[in-house]
Amino acid sequence: MQRKIISGAAKIALMLGFAFPFSASVPANDLKQLAFEAVDRNAQQMIDISDALFFFGELGMQEFESTRLLKDTLTAAGFKVELGGAGMPTNLWAEYGSGRPKIAIVTEVDALPGGSQTPGTWERKPLVKDGPGHMEGHNTHGGVASMAAFAVKQVMQRHNLPGTVALSFGPAEEQLYSRPFLVRAGYFKDVDAIIYLHIRDSVATGFGLQNYAAISSLFTFTGKTAHGAVNPWDGKDAVDAVVLMDIGFDKLREHLKPTYRAHRTITAGGIQPNIIPDKGQIWWFVRDANMPDAKETYEKLVKIAEGAALMTGTTLDIQYSASAWPQLGNKAIAEAIQKNIEVVGVPKWSEEEQVFAKDFQKVAGRPVLGLRTTPVALGARPQATSSNDNGDVSWVVPAGLLGFPSSVPGIAYHEWKAAVTPVGSISHKGQVTGAKVLAASILDLMTSPELLQKARAEFEAETKRMPYFSLLPPDAKPDLELNRVEMEKYRADMRKFYLARTPRFN
Ligand SMILES: [Zn+2]
Repeated sequence: MQRKIISGAAKIALMLGFAFPFSASVPANDLKQLAFEAVDRNAQQMIDISDALFFFGELGMQEFESTRLLKDTLTAAGFKVELGGAGMPTNLWAEYGSGRPKIAIVTEVDALPGGSQTPGTWERKPLVKDGPGHMEGHNTHGGVASMAAFAVKQVMQRHNLPGTVALSFGPAEEQLYSRPFLVRAGYFKDVDAIIYLHIRDSVATGFGLQNYAAISSLFTFTGKTAHGAVNPWDGKDAVDAVVLMDIGFDKLREHLKPTYRAHRTITAGGIQPNIIPDKGQIWWFVRDANMPDAKETYEKLVKIAEGAALMTGTTLDIQYSASAWPQLGNKAIAEAIQKNIEVVGVPKWSEEEQVFAKDFQKVAGRPVLGLRTTPVALGARPQATSSNDNGDVSWVVPAGLLGFPSSVPGIAYHEWKAAVTPVGSISHKGQVTGAKVLAASILDLMTSPELLQKARAEFEAETKRMPYFSLLPPDAKPDLELNRVEMEKYRADMRKFYLARTPRFN
């Protein structure tokens, strides 16, 4: 498809509230071709980043080595890089260019506890026993996002395109953690659109509500100890409060909408039976298909906790832990991404890669389907009941979503098997596809005021119907201790496996 920048563009740009001086009649396809060449030329550099991040295997909020490498690479590539914004040392924001339109790539690079695994083998073989590792492949996000941003920069430079391409690596996605803080800090205030990037087993986009809203809080009850046999009447049992809260919520379940989810774990349940416990703690996740409904259920949960404290004569402290809005995929942006998916296509898998995937699926007890050979059609993918803190971003700025085909279908994330492939050839080829589709889609957003206007109009309608509110308590500060002890336990042993890579894009 040859799209030229039309004369009405300036008018639309004015309506969007910024100048759109790009008037050159360079066909969009030529711009994209240039970006594809940059990706092909730098494929090894991209892979070097992603592979290096795999062996860092850093948990959320502790992504120090990973963001150091990303900062070094992006600075050398001509980006202005900020590390440590919004009060989080591993929060990375990079930009190239100036002014509007401003388009951002949003993603993360954190690993998971217990995910250490020797890549390439499907026998359970941790690199470091019990250590963390990339069993969701977030390491690939680092290479693909940086590569696409660089390719866009090359095109901007060559053709004097106005605007800004930005890159956001938010800490601790696996703990649903940082994005409400990034939104509160105002990172997306002057951003016109984002594309959220995530590894998948296919190249795909989507629109509408993609997953669930979630609220996570710790409820701590404080009572009074006493001897369980000698003077139990002097005690106030904090674990009784935990139990009563649990029963109370079970009584509520019948009266909740069928879309809700709620699950808990008891994090302090006493020491031994003959000591009346003065501390009881229960950690809850409440979810629903949208945030107002999740919040309604959460408020009932708080009432139940207050009731449990009243019944037991204990006191109650509620500590916010995390929250996430469901991801809202913008349809106009999804349609633009889908066109690029169809242009780029799926990777050409070798016979060897297909055999590997099928053998792996067989060993893992999954349907033996091999790797996908066609892109996923744009359509109503069912809303997932899991959550992602990037959801908050999608309610303050129009958001496209892109998944790229770097893992084996059927091998589920969050188990060690998913750490077998992130540095192999299947992952590498999928990353090339991902970077091309991402760069082309960012270029569409940068050069088409009509697309931005359509995305904005749709976004305004959706968020008018359901306005965003933050669940962050006003005085909440990011928990920088998150995962620190766990990470430091393994870092020295993991260091032996680090790759000495200094990728330089050209
Ligand atoms: Zn993820």
